[in-house]
Amino acid sequence: MEAVQHLVVGAGISGLSFANAIRAEGARRGRSAEVCVLEADQEPGGYCKTVVRDGFVWDYSGHFFHFKHPAIEAWLRERLEGEVVSVAKRSFIRYAGLDVDFPFQKNIHQLPREDFVECLHDLYFRERGGPPPASFHEMLHRKFGRAIAEKFLVPYNEKLYACDLGTLDVDAMGRFFPQADIDDVIRNMRAPDNASYNSTFTYPRRGAIAYVHALLRDLPPDAVSLGERVVSIDLRRRVATTTRRELRYERLVSSAPLDRLARASALEHDGAAFTYNRVLVFNLGFDRKGPEGVHWMYFPDRSLAFYRVGFYDNIFGDPRMSLYVEVGCPKEGPIDVEALRERVLSGLRREGIVKDHQLVASHEVVMDPAYVHVTRASLGEVARLAPIFAAGGVYPVGRYGGWTYCSIEDNILETRALARTLGELL
Ligand SMILES: Cc1cc2nc3c(=O)[nH]c(=O)nc-3n(C[C@H](O)[C@H](O)[C@H](O)COP(=O)(O)OP(=O)(O)OC[C@H]3O[C@@H](n4cnc5c(N)ncnc54)[C@H](O)[C@@H]3O)c2cc1C
Repeated sequence: MEAVQHLVVGAGISGLSFANAIRAEGARRGRSAEVCVLEADQEPGGYCKTVVRDGFVWDYSGHFFHFKHPAIEAWLRERLEGEVVSVAKRSFIRYAGLDVDFPFQKNIHQLPREDFVECLHDLYFRERGGPPPASFHEMLHRKFGRAIAEKFLVPYNEKLYACDLGTLDVDAMGRFFPQADIDDVIRNMRAPDNASYNSTFTYPRRGAIAYVHALLRDLPPDAVSLGERVVSIDLRRRVATTTRRELRYERLVSSAPLDRLARASALEHDGAAFTYNRVLVFNLGFDRKGPEGVHWMYFPDRSLAFYRVGFYDNIFGDPRMSLYVEVGCPKEGPIDVEALRERVLSGLRREGIVKDHQLVASHEVVMDPAYVHVTRASLGEVARLAPIFAAGGVYPVGRYGGWTYCSIEDNILETRALARTLGELL
């Protein structure tokens, strides 16, 4: 049987970042750090794949890169090929025909007068005291009052997550949820400060895949095996069975969704704890320019199929409108792509984004899973399974291995930290 020191499941950002990091640990310690990355798909990249069609460059939904750690950005940039732009984000919420600055809760003064008064009134007289909120839905109401919650935060997030927000943990979005207290809301009326974790972002001309190629650059070509799925894992023997072979591993790092990893490892787990949404992404290319000065827009209106629309063409100032349109779908059940495409196109016309444009190219993809539902039950299962996996030399990582809400930079930070820990064992 073949044997490998570090077996990595998935050639997305997390898997490739770990492969780089453990090799760097080996080099730093003067030891060999062998790594083999198995990817079920025929291409690397996971959700950071890029599609090029009729001159349009699209990702699997908008994948923009925002860095808190300049060293990580610099490391990637050194390895990136092609043009990369840094962009100051411009995003809006379409509300009652107006384009309101994001985040909604800090820009209620931009709403029609009646809505503004209602939001401000409910914010001021929101329920205070009592026990801490028990769910994401309750947190939205308790923190911002009924009107802000019901006019934007609840409908928008229900469309995105495709679930009852009462089932989500209070902290389901972690640092990605734009916090604001009443002082921030009032201050913002005179001195706008809508800074967020992604106020500026970087994006390569060649699309998100350019970052994946950067992560592949220093790896030996035979370190990644494409079209090879890990089917089962014997934790006791530390053996993985793939669609091609059996492999003995010392340590296995997996970016596969945690519930699927638990099933493949025949580990008892609460399958019902792992709920999530799927996101159907339509990438649409038109014959000419559309709205300018906007990178993406949020749509809380429940009668529209989509919750967000992004404009790739406004990143590079391209002459033809190039959109990604995101539709949140429940975990299970059929997705009628053709019917949704019609609803999307008529919604885009209704909102004045598509006028007499001709659609000249399109592509769609279902991200499954897309946004995991962080719930009390999922947090419990993630914590319970971690030591069981670790005892079998298995380390789940990434957005889906960790069943969490995180960015690409977080994936890199997490896998570098894991490589430092596992580097001790080299
Ligand atoms: C709609 C949406 C928009 C997003 N936008 C942004 C953004 O703008 N900026 C940002 O920083 N982050 C964004 N993210 C988050 C980002 O996509 C993730 O953090 C990142 O792609 C996760 O990478 P990963 O490697 O952990 O997982 P993945 O990209 O899912 O990669 C996992 C890989 O493992 C493979 N795999 C799974 N099971 C097996 C198996 N059994 N055997 C072999 N291979 C297997 C898969 O095929 C896949 O290639 C977004 C996410 C979504 C859903």
